[in-house]
Amino acid sequence: MVEGKLRSRTFRRIKVKTPGARVTVHYRRRKPNFAECGNCGVRLKAVPRALPFELKNMPKSAKRPERPFGGVLCSACMRAEIVARVRND
Ligand SMILES: [Zn+2]
Repeated sequence: MVEGKLRSRTFRRIKVKTPGARVTVHYRRRKPNFAECGNCGVRLKAVPRALPFELKNMPKSAKRPERPFGGVLCSACMRAEIVARVRND
C-alpha cells in the first residue's frame, strides 16, 4: 500500500504505463478551481487553471487579460466599475 498521505483524495490518480509495460498509479496534485469575477462570480476567461509551479514559468500576459482589473473582474463588471468611478469624480 502507498504511504498515508497519498491515500487521501487530495491527489488525483493517473495510470501511467512504465517502460516495462506495467501500468502503475501515479499521484498528482489536482488543478485549482476556475478564477471567478470578484463582483458577480462568473468564471473568468483567459485565466488558466494551473498549479503555482506551472504559473511560475508562464509569461505574465498568459495569466490574465491585459486590461484594467484583468484577472479580477469580468469585462462587464470592469466596464461598470470604470463608469461608476468616472461619474463619482
Ligand atoms: Zn463580473
